[in-house]
Amino acid sequence: MFEWGVSIVPTPDQDWRNATLGTRVRVALWLRDEVCAGNTFSKATLRTAIAGAEQVDRRMRDLRPAGWVIRTNLDMPILRPEQLYLEKIGAPVWERKHRGAGLRQISAKTRRDVYARDRYMCRRCGIGAAEAYPGEPDSTARLTLGCVRTLAADEAAQAEALVTECARCSDSAGSAPGDRITVSEFKVQVRALPDGQQQELLEWMADDFRPLRPAERVWSMYRQLPAELRDGMRRDLLGG
Ligand SMILES: [Zn+2]
Repeated sequence: MFEWGVSIVPTPDQDWRNATLGTRVRVALWLRDEVCAGNTFSKATLRTAIAGAEQVDRRMRDLRPAGWVIRTNLDMPILRPEQLYLEKIGAPVWERKHRGAGLRQISAKTRRDVYARDRYMCRRCGIGAAEAYPGEPDSTARLTLGCVRTLAADEAAQAEALVTECARCSDSAGSAPGDRITVSEFKVQVRALPDGQQQELLEWMADDFRPLRPAERVWSMYRQLPAELRDGMRRDLLGG
């Protein structure tokens, strides 16, 4: 009996082209079959293969807690901004018993603990909750949790695998080319600061930490609440 072709033609339940499979599974299969560990790919290629750009990004991030290691040029400077590197294939999420791998619900307590430990700031770019991105006064940073290691089953150990990230840094492709400030542009910005603030900045740089005033810290916590809760609280406290 000839079954030569069998191993190379994927069965429908393991075919990334099968639109009835969940996006997370399709992304995983596409990475396994079209990229293979140890190779680079671009998010654009992935988006072309699997429609639904926003979902694709999110589902790719969802693979990290399942042990998948996908590097961006934020952690591998050799990569171009649009390039990603598939370092390691994690749990086979296309198999039924692994389908939920890494998607364990992170408890509200763990979430709060991680945000508090990271002082309500993105660990990659340092932006605080609800702050505006530099040069974009109308933007509002939203904090989320990123996974730096495979998420442990043990809730107590989960916090160690998690870091606070803003939604923008959490997006695995990082910022678009040209989005980032150059060293000389940065120096111009530093020199333009009033003396006192320049000194303050240098202190933050020396400590690699920007302290928040107590009111700012509470503000960040407030901004992390869902909108309905914030509205209620505002009415309550402002008496309107
Ligand atoms: Zn960030």
